[in-house]
Amino acid sequence: MQTPVPDYLQQILDECGAPNTGATADYIPELADADPEILGICLATTDGVRYDAGDADVPVSIQSISKPFVYALAIAELGLDAVLKRVGVEPSGEAFNELSLEAKSGRPRNPMINAGALTTHALIGGGTASVEERFELVRRGLSDFAGRDLSVDEQVYASELDTAYRNRAIANMLRNYDLIDIEPEDVVRGYTRQCAISVTTRDLAAMAATLANGGVQPMTGQRVVEPAVVRQVLSVMMSCGMYDAAGDWMTTIGFPAKSGVSGGILGVLPGQIGIATLSPRLDSHGTSVRGVRLCGRMSKDMGMHIMEPP
Ligand code: GLN
Repeated sequence: MQTPVPDYLQQILDECGAPNTGATADYIPELADADPEILGICLATTDGVRYDAGDADVPVSIQSISKPFVYALAIAELGLDAVLKRVGVEPSGEAFNELSLEAKSGRPRNPMINAGALTTHALIGGGTASVEERFELVRRGLSDFAGRDLSVDEQVYASELDTAYRNRAIANMLRNYDLIDIEPEDVVRGYTRQCAISVTTRDLAAMAATLANGGVQPMTGQRVVEPAVVRQVLSVMMSCGMYDAAGDWMTTIGFPAKSGVSGGILGVLPGQIGIATLSPRLDSHGTSVRGVRLCGRMSKDMGMHIMEPP
């Protein structure tokens, strides 16, 4: 007899929970203080059923997991060509917060690193929206992916904004090269607020399931983005979602994924399920140590590597 999904999820939490190595993100004071014991997992099917175990209802800030969704919103709003003029699709092989641009085109290499994500954020609202209007478009868009109204963790927002010198440096670089048309400080404020949107592991799985389901939110039935947008987003997640560990992730675990410095990992099996894990201690790439372990375990147990021969 097969193990029921919730029992299986609890079993892998028990087996992959130790050792709890790594460190919480120390460059954002609020995240440094996160409870390192939090451990949650959720799978969401494309017909809207969610299975979870552990701390799947504990809210955290979404951080970089917002990036693929805002990329999707930018493409939906402006069209792929307009977005490609500003942000590339090549893996950077560098850290997420690297101050770098593509040598030839002068664009940020991809929308998953901060340089690309700041640029993508600035594209929302067609360049005429105020900081608040742009953020509201982002918040509403992410809420549509999640299937419920999301809000901001104001403490994380204030804490990150206080210390966002590196992202300010990147935004100033982007402004200097005319990659963003609005004030760098406004882009940093909006992007930092985007990263501070509060989600649970269950929300992340629902957002992933919307991508797995070709852009239709499985619980609400709302079409959030077109299938062509999803294809673009998942392709970029596959090659760039794990930053300078993208090759290692893709060869060993093998499904498109995105990590965030609050400890979440979101993964997508196209046509099948959305996957989310949460554990705040990170490795040197800024990715959850136990989350990688859990995703590796699921990939092995359930044959989730998308290149696995049938
Ligand atoms: N808000 C974070 C930053 O810009 C997001 C980084 C991440 O989650 N990798 O540094």
